[in-house]
Amino acid sequence: MPLTKAEAALLTRRTGMAIENFTWRNNGILTLLNDEKTRACVFLLTASSDANAEGMCSVYEVRPQGCRTYPNVLNHHDEVILDEGCPHKAQFPEPTEEDAIVLLNLEEQLLREG
Ligand code: SF4
Repeated sequence: MPLTKAEAALLTRRTGMAIENFTWRNNGILTLLNDEKTRACVFLLTASSDANAEGMCSVYEVRPQGCRTYPNVLNHHDEVILDEGCPHKAQFPEPTEEDAIVLLNLEEQLLREG
């Protein structure tokens, strides 16, 4: 999941973790790191590496914007869609043009910071 520098700074303040312990650069974009054992986000409380395993976000109140808008994602044409990889996508409404604008603004900020 990509995140902005401000979101990373907030997570550092809340968790006490150094930024390099929960992020990496994916093609220059700051991105949440996955735990080696669970293969899920380092902030997901889960004991399983199963992609469908239950888990809870340990930083829910300060999670990045991309987490808040998921499973809405942009495709290669910058159209907003529900992520094909989300096992719960059928439970979400079809994204709107407003959802697209939120994600396009986020993408622009991430690219500017990258
Ligand atoms: S919602 Fe929480 S656990 Fe999920 S990717 Fe975002 S920060 Fe990680």
